[in-house]
Amino acid sequence: MKTLQGRIILKDHIVTGSLSFDHYLREIDTKSLSNKDPEDYILPGFIDGHVHGGDGADTMDGAEGIKKLSKFHMQHGTTTILPTTITRPWNELIDTLRALKEVQKSNSSDLPDIRGAHLEGPFISEKKLGAQPAFTLCPTPSKIQELIDLNIVRVITMAPEIKQIDQAIPLLTKAGIRISLGHTACNYDQACHAINTIHEHHGTAAGTHLFNAMGGIEGRIPGLVGALLDNNKAYAEMIFDTHHVHPVNFRLAHRLFPDRLLFITDAMRGAGMKEGISELGGQNVIIKEGQVMGMNGHLAGSVLTLDQAFRNAITHGATLPEATKLLSTNAAHYQGLTDRGEISIGKRADLIVMNTNLQIEQVWVAGHRMV
Ligand SMILES: [Zn+2]
Repeated sequence: MKTLQGRIILKDHIVTGSLSFDHYLREIDTKSLSNKDPEDYILPGFIDGHVHGGDGADTMDGAEGIKKLSKFHMQHGTTTILPTTITRPWNELIDTLRALKEVQKSNSSDLPDIRGAHLEGPFISEKKLGAQPAFTLCPTPSKIQELIDLNIVRVITMAPEIKQIDQAIPLLTKAGIRISLGHTACNYDQACHAINTIHEHHGTAAGTHLFNAMGGIEGRIPGLVGALLDNNKAYAEMIFDTHHVHPVNFRLAHRLFPDRLLFITDAMRGAGMKEGISELGGQNVIIKEGQVMGMNGHLAGSVLTLDQAFRNAITHGATLPEATKLLSTNAAHYQGLTDRGEISIGKRADLIVMNTNLQIEQVWVAGHRMV
């Protein structure tokens, strides 16, 4: 049995005590402290459901790239990861998913838990590509079946207005694959139709990087943002590097969605690297002052890490337990991962230790110290 002492961030409050665990969390003791006033924070490991790369590597590079980016994000507190593809020709996507499956099967002891893939595109709108290359496709039943048979995709980003989405939704929800709406020029009615169809088929709807690659809210035009934030079951991803989303819009969304806002990085290969020219989806991008820009002037992914997103949430008004929900608990609920996402007895020992400046000191994955 292992033990950590500190200020333990629970669901709604913080206790000072010691936490005992093996593979799972076994005991929280608030009485017998050997270290009188342990100051470090102990919180559940972060879950990144949308991340393309880091440390020079990209999901599309294949197995070695996937391992490298996963290790990089683990250094920043990510203990559960969904490496994310970008819109590329179909055969490239299938090759990448097979590589990801190999990495997952290898069950390497030096990696975070690789849950599966987030397929971002190709089932998106040509009008809202953002940084995605223009290899969009329709989600035909045969393509959807191919993905289901691979059994590695956990989340798919889709535009609500794309042809054949109504046939795709029941197949995907039945297979337990989450549908996240994004990269879309849809209107409010199309957004509601997709969200309701997902929920009617017992799925869980979300929005991909809320406010980005979708229309905004206007007086008479609620759009996808309004449809999501007005729904009492939907979730929404957010890239809170303060470049993609203004702090005011974070606070508004957080007030409406304290239990359903999901922080993600959407990081690309330049995360953790020197600024300058980099690459995303076969296109050159420029990293400057913490922003990634495509040659078309669009933001092209981020260089965010989840520990920084955590600190940003705190800086902009979230409490420590609230920020923990944004980085762990909400994502676990969204993805149906009942064995993690919070510190409570019986959950996996996916843990982060942070010092009082909220810098990472230790990372544990299923009871094994990784950092
Ligand atoms: Zn992305």
